[in-house]
Amino acid sequence: MRQVAIYGKGGIGKSTTTQNLTAGLATMGKQVMVVGCDPKADSTRLLLGGLAQKSVLDTLREEGDDVDLNAILKPGFGNIRCVESGGPEPGVGCAGRGIITSINMLEQLGAYTDDLDYVFYDVLGDVVCGGFAMPIREGKAQEIYIVASGEMMALYAANNISKGIKKYANSGGVRLGGIICNSRKVDRELDLLEAFAKELGSQLIHFVPRNNVVQRAEINKKTVIEFEPESAQAGEYRALAKAIDENELFVIPKPMTQDRLEEILMEYGLMDI
Ligand code: ADP
Ligand code: MG
Repeated sequence: MRQVAIYGKGGIGKSTTTQNLTAGLATMGKQVMVVGCDPKADSTRLLLGGLAQKSVLDTLREEGDDVDLNAILKPGFGNIRCVESGGPEPGVGCAGRGIITSINMLEQLGAYTDDLDYVFYDVLGDVVCGGFAMPIREGKAQEIYIVASGEMMALYAANNISKGIKKYANSGGVRLGGIICNSRKVDRELDLLEAFAKELGSQLIHFVPRNNVVQRAEINKKTVIEFEPESAQAGEYRALAKAIDENELFVIPKPMTQDRLEEILMEYGLMDI
C-alpha cells in the first residue's frame, strides 16, 4: 500500500487534481482510498457525485465515539473509498486536529485493508500547523506531491512545504515524489516549474494544462475522467496517474532560500526588478 499526500497552496487545485488522478488510477484497476484533510470537506465531492459526505468530526460530534465505518467511508467513482476529516466548529480548536482524529479513527475501524493499492491524503495549505503536518510527521504518508503553478505565491508555498518535508524526512522517512504543475498559463511556466523542481532535487512529474472542461465537469459534480473520458484533459490526468504509479524518484528535498527562489523567478521573467 502506497500512502501519498498531496500538498499545495489553497485554491491551487489539490482536490481537483487528486480526485482526477485517483479516478485515473481506479480506471487502471487500482484500489484507492481518498482521505480529505481540509476543514472545507470538499476533497471527495467529484468522486461522490456531489453527495454530501458527513465528515469524521461531524459524525463524532453527533453520534459519539461509537462510529460505524460505513458512516464515514463512502464508495465513489471506480469504487474509490472516500473519507472527509472535516474540521472543528468555526473558531474552536486547531483545524489540523481533525486529521489526527480521523486517521486514528480509520485505523481503529480497520479502513486500511490489505487490498488497497493507494491511500491519498488531500491536505490544505502550508505545513505550518502541527495538525496539517501530521500525515508526514507520523509517517502515515511516505510520498508527497506538491501541486504548484508558475505564480510566485504557489512556488513560495511549495518551497515552504519542502522545508516541512525535509524536517520530518530523517525521523519519519517521508520523501518528495515530485511537483505537479497545475497550469495558470503563466509565461514559460513549464520551464520555470522544471527549473524549480530540479533546484529542489526533485522532478516535475506532470504538467496539467488549464482547461474549462474541469469547470464543466465540476458543475456536473464529476471528475473529468468520468464526465469526458475521451477529452485531452482526461488523458492528462491519466498520464499523471501513470507517472505516479511508475515513479521511482523519491528524494529529501533541498529547499531554497528566498533569494534563490526570487533569482529563479527573475530568470524566467516573473519578477522584473
Ligand atoms: P484546492 O483543493 O487546492 O483548494 P481546488 O481543487 O478546489 O483547489 O481548485 C480550485 C478551483 O480551480 C476549482 O474550483 C477548479 O474548478 C479550478 N481548477 C483546478 N484545476 C484546474 C484546471 N487544470 N483547469 C481549470 N480549472 C481548474
Ligand atoms: Mg481542496
